[in-house]
Amino acid sequence: MTHVITSLCLRDGGCTTVCPVECIVPGKPVEEWPLFYIDADTCIDCGACVPECPWEAIFPEDEVPAAYKAKGGERLSAPIGTAGFTEKYDGHNHDNEAVHLEGTRTLTAGEVVDLTPDIEVNKKFFTSGPGYNAK
Ligand code: SF4
Ligand code: SF4
Repeated sequence: MTHVITSLCLRDGGCTTVCPVECIVPGKPVEEWPLFYIDADTCIDCGACVPECPWEAIFPEDEVPAAYKAKGGERLSAPIGTAGFTEKYDGHNHDNEAVHLEGTRTLTAGEVVDLTPDIEVNKKFFTSGPGYNAK
């Protein structure tokens, strides 16, 4: 198994500092791959990254929620041009560096979203996306 970063990720980067096997990779180019991604071949499922994420974006693969109920105010990220993801996000990561995302969407309290498609996106990053090319 592996852990999976979902589209609740806003590139804080804190998870990368605690991963003992350094298998968390920032997506590039950010317009196409706005999240960080976990290499399933390397992840040892230790769970250390989970509490580090300020956006609670990381789940064990078999616990990625199909019906995530929003607290309200959290954001989802998507590649630029994705329908409905029209809000720009400007924030800072754990090193206080600026983070800019072109395509996000703020969730309203009680809204229910399916985060399971992010499992395939994460796999794709390492099988045919930039994560594969970097190996
Ligand atoms: S800590 Fe959370 S928001 Fe930050 S890069 Fe990791 S998964 Fe994304
Ligand atoms: S579960 Fe452990 S090994 Fe896997 S990405 Fe998180 S910190 Fe790294």
